[in-house]
Amino acid sequence: MRIGVVGTGYVGLVQGVILAEFGLDVICMDVIEEKITMLNQGIVPIYEPGLKELMDKNVAAGRIIFTTDVKYTVENCDVIFIAVGTPPKDDGSADLKYVLEVAKNIGTYLNGYKVIVNKSTVPVGTGQLVKETIQTVLNERGEEYPFDIVSNPEFLREGKAVGDCLKPDRVVIGYENERAAELMKKVYDVLYINETPFVFTDIATAETIKYASNAFLAVKISFINEMALLAEKVGANVQEIARAMGMDGRISPKFLHAGPGYGGSCFPKDTKAIVDIGRQYGEEFKVIQGAIEANEKQKQRMVEKIVDRMNGVQGKTIAILGLSFKPETDDMRDAPSIDIINGLVKNGAKIKAYDPQGMKEAQWRLENIADSIQYCENEYAAVEGADATVFITEWHQFRGMSLNRMKDFMKGDFVFDLRNIHVKDRNVRNLFQYYPLGRS
Ligand code: NAD
Repeated sequence: MRIGVVGTGYVGLVQGVILAEFGLDVICMDVIEEKITMLNQGIVPIYEPGLKELMDKNVAAGRIIFTTDVKYTVENCDVIFIAVGTPPKDDGSADLKYVLEVAKNIGTYLNGYKVIVNKSTVPVGTGQLVKETIQTVLNERGEEYPFDIVSNPEFLREGKAVGDCLKPDRVVIGYENERAAELMKKVYDVLYINETPFVFTDIATAETIKYASNAFLAVKISFINEMALLAEKVGANVQEIARAMGMDGRISPKFLHAGPGYGGSCFPKDTKAIVDIGRQYGEEFKVIQGAIEANEKQKQRMVEKIVDRMNGVQGKTIAILGLSFKPETDDMRDAPSIDIINGLVKNGAKIKAYDPQGMKEAQWRLENIADSIQYCENEYAAVEGADATVFITEWHQFRGMSLNRMKDFMKGDFVFDLRNIHVKDRNVRNLFQYYPLGRS
């Protein structure tokens, strides 16, 4: 059995490498030539811990190849994963143009029974749309080949993607036809025999599970962020609130960490997309809409807090440590740092920024305010001469910073710790005007 993976981004590349690691023959295909050239040279175009080692191993074993040739991929694979982007349109709905483009290509080159697996996060009904698109092209060709559609949403976390794919909490398979379900069991044989929980269901349910999961987690984060706000007002400690809440088995301690707002390529777009799906059916999802609004407010609140405590930031230099939306990734899509930096610059601040992996992407995402940002080569260079330091992303190396050295380098003494990474250091309050989040 040969597997095709169309789209070699954060999801497709990891998925392709893991399937090769499971012993399958994999063809990874992408339209971006530069990406495929890099992959063929052994260079991983994204930062994802552990991926390079596993990729090298499976390339050497001859189990995975990279190509821009969609015809070759479709003609030579039995199972084809669609793992292309589904970015938000201006109205919040998911843009399906890349998914449908792939469906057209599959219809054009289909040459025998194949299972088409949708891994991209897509609105309910997309499976049917992909099916119709392939069938329409086949009709135009005047040829008839059997094929099945499967929905297999992805739950990996960037930064931990390799581990998540090797040992997922669950695998969701939405299907219409037993033949396709049996083939998917073979694809995931390694997981299946190792007792990973599998959920076999219909396609509409599988598609909805992905949005429901992400929307729920976004609500959880926005909830604890509101508790952080309350804690600051009443003199309570949000970390202890979260810890005690998390001890309740019904709640769980995960995703109960207060911060500057959720970001990344999934939660912001998927919450908007599910609200849009509700709207299409004449329903308003007030809880999810509330989480979206609370998240926007949270980022603005961070700006207001910094401006307020510093008595204005006009002409002041602010060091930003951490740009990517979370540690261990270079992904800057919808990172809270973008809104916070924009807000500070609007208030007249100059920014010195450092991130271990996200700076390349940050430079073009913040191009419009490039004059106000200086990118630095490490965390100490960033804080040098700064009036304030703001920790936005909790990279490990920021936890280990010497506060004394930081104090020596800085001009001012404001520290805004939006991830509470230095909160337990006894020295931090002696050295700085220290503002953690949701606690004193
Ligand atoms: P990405 O932007 O990193 O990668 C998408 C890739 O698809 C790009 O390399 C692009 O060049 C390629 N592509 C676009 N059109 C193509 C075509 N016609 N043929 C071949 N390749 C094409 O996106 P991603 O982060 O990997 O996300 C992919 C999907 O998975 C999205 O729907 C996303 O919501 C979902 N998802 C993402 C994550 C995550 O953490 N990134 C987790 C779970 C699910």
